Amino acid sequence: MFNFARIENMCDFCHFIKKIVLVVTFLQVSSAPAFAQICTSGYFNEKLEEESPVQRVGTAQNTRNIEIHWSQPADFTETDPFVGNNYQLAIHEGIDFIHSNQSIPQVSVRSVADGKVVYIRRGCPQSNLFEPNTEERECGAGWGNHVVILHPNGLFTRYAHLAPDTIQITVSQQIHRGEELAKMGNSGRSDMRHLHFEMGVAIEFKSCAPSQSFEYIYNPITPLGWGDLLH
Ligand SMILES: [Zn+2]
Repeated sequence: MFNFARIENMCDFCHFIKKIVLVVTFLQVSSAPAFAQICTSGYFNEKLEEESPVQRVGTAQNTRNIEIHWSQPADFTETDPFVGNNYQLAIHEGIDFIHSNQSIPQVSVRSVADGKVVYIRRGCPQSNLFEPNTEERECGAGWGNHVVILHPNGLFTRYAHLAPDTIQITVSQQIHRGEELAKMGNSGRSDMRHLHFEMGVAIEFKSCAPSQSFEYIYNPITPLGWGDLLH
């Protein structure tokens, strides 16, 4: 997802206030996240085109990158990189794993590590798999159908643009590395079948609420050691 329009709408003063809030909240994320609601089937609203704030790039992931074995979330034919600078709002908030081979009808999306499902957004339609989606593009705040998983080191991962009616998991379910979550899709703000994969930190995810941003996001390529894989 590219968010130029949303970035242009931010005022300087808002930036200043937001920076203070984020600095304060970031100090709290090392404590265990709290989950006020448990919607096991996830949040569903096919008519809602919600908004979430553009996520800010953080730099403190090193202490969290411990004893986690990461794997690749999906097969792909091409990738688009994360784009963003430290402490700025990201331009592209994750890595895109694009699968443009139409002879392969379904592509699995898998968890990159062990963890727990903390959020599911369902109900976002898609008009087709290989052309720009024309239905409810802002559904799921542009992420379309998506899943968020919390890993044991406190990092969260998000798997976006999933195909409708393919999410096979429930909120609070324990997930193993490599376990299938759903099929790659084209829902939300997507122009071609692809997985938009994000890594970040958050204080809380409300399982029965509309889509939510992370407090900070990171370029996944460094902590996950994907440099060779994606070049
Ligand atoms: Zn993307």
